[in-house]
Amino acid sequence: MTDAPATAHQQDQVAADTINNTTMGNNTTMGNNTTMGDGSIPLCPHQGCGFKCCTFQQGNFIVLHPGELDAAKASGAGTDHLELLENYHGGHKVVCRAADTANCDGGYKPLDCASYPFFPTVNEATGVVEGTLKGAKCPLTTAIANFHRLWVEDQWRRLADTNAEVKPWLAKVALVGYETVDRPD
Ligand code: SF4
Ligand code: SF4
Repeated sequence: MTDAPATAHQQDQVAADTINNTTMGNNTTMGNNTTMGDGSIPLCPHQGCGFKCCTFQQGNFIVLHPGELDAAKASGAGTDHLELLENYHGGHKVVCRAADTANCDGGYKPLDCASYPFFPTVNEATGVVEGTLKGAKCPLTTAIANFHRLWVEDQWRRLADTNAEVKPWLAKVALVGYETVDRPD
């Protein structure tokens, strides 16, 4: 997502992919330290944020990587809640008009949304996709949500392995409302 974050990770949202990663040893329970298959973070309902990452104010948008929108439509997932703003470096820039943000109106949840509050960049020296950006307005800290950052990295690395357009696209994406965060590992 991108920009003034606009992403979401609520319970029961439709998934973009399905991989669970669990980090042990944090100061929360194991269940809370597990990213759900759709990118939902169990800690979110306890942050008092009002799920503001699904709220679109002027300037907020979601980015869809090259091929993502076509793949979503081909899968049969609903995309009517995603309003196209413009084509964006081979992908798309959209805003969400879902009436029920708890489940994306039963439709497709973009990987940008599933990744929030993190977003990937490509390390210029190594070419490795890393989760080095974090939405500033999200109350989750990088330390607490590091398990999700690792999940995000895994999702985007797998995607980049199968879609050659992803890394060049990531290098062109300009986000608003994000800050660079250290990688603790
Ligand atoms: S804690 Fe962050 S990611 Fe979770 S719902 Fe709130 S703003 Fe979104
Ligand atoms: S697509 Fe789903 S997760 Fe993304 S902003 Fe809309 S309701 Fe929230």
